[in-house]
This record gives sequence, C-alpha cells and structure tokens, in this order.
Amino acid sequence: MIKKLLIANRGEIALRIVRACKQLGIQTVGVYSTADKDLMHLKFCDEAVCIGNPPSPQSYLDISRIIAAAEITGADAIHPGYGFLSENAKFAESVEEAGLTFVGPTADHIRLMGNKVSAINAMKKAGVPTVPGSAGSITLQNAEEEAKKIGFPLIVKAAAGGGGRGMRVVERFEELLPQVQAAKAEAKTAFGDDTVYMERFLKNPRHVEVQVLGDGDGNALHLFDRDCSLQRRHQKVLEEAPAPGIPDDVKQPILDACVRACEQINYRGAGTFEFLYENEEFFFIEMNTRVQVEHPVTEMITGIDIIVEQLKIASGYGLSYHQDEITIRGHAIECRINAEDPNTFMPSPGTINRLFAPSGSGVRFDSHLYQGYTIPTYYDSMIGKLICHAQTRKQAIAKSLHSLDELVIEGIKTNIALHRDKILVDEAFYEEAQNIHYLENHLLKSTSH
Ligand code: ADP
Repeated sequence: MIKKLLIANRGEIALRIVRACKQLGIQTVGVYSTADKDLMHLKFCDEAVCIGNPPSPQSYLDISRIIAAAEITGADAIHPGYGFLSENAKFAESVEEAGLTFVGPTADHIRLMGNKVSAINAMKKAGVPTVPGSAGSITLQNAEEEAKKIGFPLIVKAAAGGGGRGMRVVERFEELLPQVQAAKAEAKTAFGDDTVYMERFLKNPRHVEVQVLGDGDGNALHLFDRDCSLQRRHQKVLEEAPAPGIPDDVKQPILDACVRACEQINYRGAGTFEFLYENEEFFFIEMNTRVQVEHPVTEMITGIDIIVEQLKIASGYGLSYHQDEITIRGHAIECRINAEDPNTFMPSPGTINRLFAPSGSGVRFDSHLYQGYTIPTYYDSMIGKLICHAQTRKQAIAKSLHSLDELVIEGIKTNIALHRDKILVDEAFYEEAQNIHYLENHLLKSTSH
C-alpha cells in the first residue's frame, strides 16, 4: 500500500483525499501556496509544504516544485485531484520518472483521451457510439466537403479543447469557413494547438456520464451513470445519480461498452465517459481521466468510496468489487455551492463570518469551509458540495431543499438561492431531467448571464 501520499491540490477535494487516506492508514503531505496556508486539510495532514506564490502557475501548476515537495518529505505517491495538473500527461510522466506512484492512469492514456480526435477514434474502435462527424481533424481545404456529409447545424470543436473553449456552432454552409478559421484561432490561443474537428450539433441533448474503474491489467467495471445537464456556460451546477428516465435496454449497452473500452486499453484508475443523450441515443463526446467533482452522487448510490478505490488501484491491489456486487440504492443529488454574486455570477471571495452545515440521514456536505476562513481570490469559486441521498428522486429533491434551508454561509455571496429558489422548486425539473440548455434558457432567463 502507498505509505505517504502527497496531495497536489487544494480546497474541498484535498480534504476529501485526506479523509480517504485516514481510512486506509496512509500518511499525508499537503502542499499550499502562500495564499492558502489556512486551508482546512492542512490541519489534518501529517506534513505541509509551501510550494510557491498564489498564482497557480507558480504553485499548483509547477511540476518541479510539487515533485520536490514529494522528495523532501519522502512521499511515495501523488494524487492530483481534479483540475490543476490532473489531466497533464507530462506531470504523470514526471511523477513516475521521479520513482513515485501517480494516482491515475498512465501518461499515454491521459494523452490519448486529452486529444478528442484520438479519444473519439479509440471509442469507435471499442464500439462506443460517437457523434456523427468528421473522421478525424479537418482543414480549411476539406471542411466544406466534410460538412456536406454531416449536414447543418454542426459544431466545430478543438481537439485539445476543455472548458467549453474553441467551439463554434455553424448553422449554414456560407458561415462554415469563417467559423472554422475562428475556432482554429481560438484553439491556438487557448491550447497552443489549432487542430479542430466537426460534429453534428445535437439540438437539445442531456449530459449523461458513466463512472468507471480499471485496474490497468485488463479488468474494469462501471459504477453506473450520472446526469449533469444543468449547466451554465458549460459549467455543471447540479448533478444527480442515476441519470433519470433512461430505459434499461438503452442504458445497459452503453455501460457495457464503457467497460469494454477500458478493458481493451488496460485503463487504470477512475475515469468518466461523457455522453450527449438525445432521443434515447447516446453519443460519446469525451473522457475525463481523473476523479470528478460530482463523484459523491455515485458514492451515495453505490456505497463505494471512489477515492479509496483510486488509492487501492494505484497501490496495486486491483479492483475491490465484481460488477455483479454493485447495485444502485436510491437517488442522490449534488448542488455545487459557489462563492459568487447571484446576479452577475462574478466570484465573491471573502471571510466566512458564520457557517452552519446541514446534516441528518443521507446528507453530506463536502467542503473545506470553516468559520473565520477567508476564501482567497486566486482560485475556483466552488466552495462546497451539498449531496443528498434518499430512496427516490423526488425525496432527494425534498431533502436537498430542506438541507439548503439549513445551510448558513455568511460573509460572502453564494449561489444557494439559485438551487433553492429556482432549480429545485421548478416543476418541470421535479417531474423529469431536463436538457443542457434548460438552466440558461428557462431558469435564468430573467437574470443577466
Ligand atoms: P469541453 O471539454 O470544452 O467541456 P465537450 O466536448 O465536453 O467540451 O463539450 C462541452 C459542451 O458543449 C457539452 O456539454 C455540450 O453542452 C456542448 N456540445 C459539445 N458537442 C456538442 C454537439 N455535438 N452537439 C451539441 N452540443 C455539444
């Protein structure tokens, strides 16, 4: 088993990883920037190392500083969390070159899935359905010919894409070339790579994803699915598991295909296959090769601790479960709590004067907040996740509403009211899962966004 783990992250996920380590008897090393010395998880780590200045490139994104911190503390493994260096193949490679264990897939798999064109090709090979589109990347020379095959509307996407950047929807043939050019320029600026490809633009899909675990040795399993359709500017706001209302005979072949794809490539660790789902059809869009923010909803319905499993797999223990031992119990909903202005959605950092976290059966608040803590200005505005688990979806909604009533965070502005007063009381959402445009086009219509 890993003996001492360095956590190359901050905030709630760093605390979440410390908790898993305590359970497994693994010692922990926290790292922090000079803006982050008061982070909650550092109080529970066995050791803590300051790795640099507040801007991420000078601390949380600085590979050599993180590896040096592992070396001086004698850590034997590194967990990257999500964001920051978690999907950086060079980081995974550097960790292993330093003789340390990277808690995640191989650098080759991170690279394969980090390029969406190669990821889509790998999925096609494994029999996972993808969005009809160009077979590989396109150029200004062959764009028109490929577009005719796909039809309109279509979407031009950056191969190296992430965070919703480098994407352009094209409605008409005449707009194609200028839009391809614009997408290429944006991709070049954002990712240093102007490779783009095209897909059919699905009008009103839902975002449904499948959680997998692989042992790196040809064995894999799935932990069912999640629906993350409620998004603002491609950022997830509320997630739930399982994805509601999908017929078993439509869902099961997709779950099986994801497992097969992992087995074919000897995938190691936790991963997520992201799909668009429309008219009872699944279309793969990308794979995330790390733990995701919304992993707790899956933990609540399966009873499996995904971070513990990541650590066991990285330690060489393989998978702790067989597929037929994993069943779904009830329904779980996660509300992301952000420090942001409810009207402008601008980040709202500051000091927490008063904090009360909800509790009770099936209520989980994953957060690094404490009374007196000051949220720094440098990082993501997500400050916690409220996860509620109940027997049915409607009961999980009721429990979420009540728990949000209990939740008190004073001193900063938050998006609690968005969840409590707009999403969870919405009748259409209460009845069934909605598509990826619903939050922006219906629930936020009256607000500037
Ligand atoms: P990123 O990695 O930048 O987040 P994704 O490929 O995951 O990019 O797509 C982000 C979002 O863009 C999706 O969740 C969806 O809202 C929209 N999108 C992407 N591809 C399509 C498509 N083919 N049709 C319709 N919407 C799409």
